[in-house]
Amino acid sequence: MRAVRVFLVPVVVALVWSVAGSSAYGFVTLKGYNGKDIYWDKAVIKWYLHPNGSSDVSFQELQSAVAAAFQSWKSVPCFTKQFSYEGTRTSDPQDGVYIRFVESNWDSSVDGAAAYAMTWKNNWGGGEKITNGVIVFNGQDVSWSTNPDLSPMSYQSDIEGVTAHELGHILGLDHSRELDATMFFTGGGTSMRTLEDDDRNGLCFIYGTFTQGKPCDSCNSDSHCASGICLQYPDGATYCGKDCWSNAQCPELFYCYALSSGTDQCVSNNTYCNQQGKNIALGSFCYGMETCQSGLCLVAYGDAYCSRTCTSDSVCGSLKCANGYCMKQGTKGFGEVCQSHHQCASQVCWLQSPDGVAYCSKSCSSQTDCPAGYACSGQYCITGGSGTYKADCEEDTECQSLLCFDPGNGDSFCSQKCSGDSQCPGTDKCALGTCSPIGSVPFGGPCQSGTDCLGALCKGFGATRYCTKTCAADTDCPGNATCLTAGYCSQASDIPKPCTDSAQCSEGQFCREMAGGNYGQCVVKCNAFADTGCSEGMDCRWVYVAASNQVLGECVTADPSAGTEGDECSQGLPCRPSLICAVLDQGTGHCYRDCKVGSGLGCSPGYDCVSANIAGDPLHGLCLCAGVCDPVITEPEPDVITSPDVVSSDRWTAPDQSGSGQDQKGPPGVDTSDPALADDPYTPLPGSPSQGSCSASPHHAGSSTIPGVLVVLLLAGLWVCSRRGRRHGRALPRHEP
Ligand SMILES: [Zn+2]
Repeated sequence: MRAVRVFLVPVVVALVWSVAGSSAYGFVTLKGYNGKDIYWDKAVIKWYLHPNGSSDVSFQELQSAVAAAFQSWKSVPCFTKQFSYEGTRTSDPQDGVYIRFVESNWDSSVDGAAAYAMTWKNNWGGGEKITNGVIVFNGQDVSWSTNPDLSPMSYQSDIEGVTAHELGHILGLDHSRELDATMFFTGGGTSMRTLEDDDRNGLCFIYGTFTQGKPCDSCNSDSHCASGICLQYPDGATYCGKDCWSNAQCPELFYCYALSSGTDQCVSNNTYCNQQGKNIALGSFCYGMETCQSGLCLVAYGDAYCSRTCTSDSVCGSLKCANGYCMKQGTKGFGEVCQSHHQCASQVCWLQSPDGVAYCSKSCSSQTDCPAGYACSGQYCITGGSGTYKADCEEDTECQSLLCFDPGNGDSFCSQKCSGDSQCPGTDKCALGTCSPIGSVPFGGPCQSGTDCLGALCKGFGATRYCTKTCAADTDCPGNATCLTAGYCSQASDIPKPCTDSAQCSEGQFCREMAGGNYGQCVVKCNAFADTGCSEGMDCRWVYVAASNQVLGECVTADPSAGTEGDECSQGLPCRPSLICAVLDQGTGHCYRDCKVGSGLGCSPGYDCVSANIAGDPLHGLCLCAGVCDPVITEPEPDVITSPDVVSSDRWTAPDQSGSGQDQKGPPGVDTSDPALADDPYTPLPGSPSQGSCSASPHHAGSSTIPGVLVVLLLAGLWVCSRRGRRHGRALPRHEP
């Protein structure tokens, strides 16, 4: 190897240059403690399954999915090794690859992971020969699927895709910097089943021949690199560069370094192409939680960049604070197809039903701000149906105005919002914020005389006169009104005050739009995430306001007999109004806390907010335990961090080595970065451990209302986020796909 040594200048290189879409980063290999790439020496690599398989799919489905993942790697032409399924084993045979699911008591040290892989190496030679490996799936917190058509919005994870990723680790690959690669640090859908060039390159680098190394691709000799130069970085690791004569020719986070001899090379200004650099700035491309200064690498919508939590734009640099996280500013204009709010300059991606295609919206203050076919929701232009004013309708979406108004007789028509008569067509009146033909003021609305009212019945005194209707029994009357002996419905005092705007409501109330396009009612506001703000005997119920994409809470009568968090629930066995009953994984329904997808708001630490996939309520999520959810996780951080022995066997014997680990063929690989760990019999491979800070599932950040997108983040949350108690970045097993 030519080993050109690069001494990075200790200058903080401001990231003033960047190359759009540059993903010139590539595969990374795992190293033995001698610093060499690890690899399998055996010609035939056996694999085994635990006979219990997964509780989510049949054993046959599992076996087929795993076999397919092996086949993906096997089919790379440069790779000549064989894989051989050797049947089931109830314990690790330590002879090949052993795959099993953990359905309960998931190892708390990898709490947020969906799966992880551990590899053992021989202790003679350089410790670079892999002897055996284990892949452990988290069946406790993650629902697994083999469905090839698994929706990206599903809360489920794909067994084959995740197996392919974990197998990459087992074969000697670390996380890639290539966003699309199966070996990228997070992911989870079926797209991971298919290897990308970068994955194949990595495999060929280890097991075959490879000569096309890009910047940050591993190399051992100049011949591995497309530029013909293998660079040794100050930390001793060796990576390819790229010919350049100016920074502009280098990928983002690289600069053009002048070698003393030979063509100048693109050199990483992150910590030496090292995944644990923790020095990528906000908004820049990242490839692992530990690569960001903030510890939060947000992966979404074909992008990955460093983010952080925020309450205002002021801490977000060039990013924008949305949903509690710094997000990239959207660029898409009105009417452009979008998958998430933050892709839009307006920050509003409006999901148009029923085709499911969403478009960027724009803000508006009145109908005139919106083009034809769009209605001003009060904040944003949103799409409506074809129904013009007074057209018959049943649903809001049938109306251009998105307001299907039932004046009280069930004879709904498309109306429009107004604040005065002059805003209504012809001689129609503005009643209760809604344009109505004369004589159509609905029940409860104010009137001067019967001609104002639908039903021509105006009762009451002076300013309290209201439109009502005839009745024979209480059931004839809307809401809480009762049938008075006079034969018309009362305007019961507890009938909520009608409104069109929260400003019309008393303090502590908001104007809640009623179903069916009816005018709003003032209801008592509460905190839907904290379930607080209601008086005794009341519970705070989640309310999603589509028009403004807001989540509010309303106080409703509590049901003391209903289920509390974690209780079983079903049709006849409801949860308290502040909870949501969901059946995960075709099992029994349980009561979960509400949370806001995207921000995780509502969940306690240790929980992930998983989309509830409720049509029309896209922000609604369930708090699912991400692994360790008891109060204990209010972390004994200090002693964990200072402990020299974080990878102590009491942690690592747990997942796999029940006894059998004691007599493995040779001591496993150790992390060269920490000699103190060398004696640990279960120290897994070195490499980038991928633990970002894991508080409150940051990866959900900014996900938004479009489900397909959501999931990416969600998966990131489950898979990447891990080890809340151990941020010490080293010698951890490969986990999370
Ligand atoms: Zn991984």
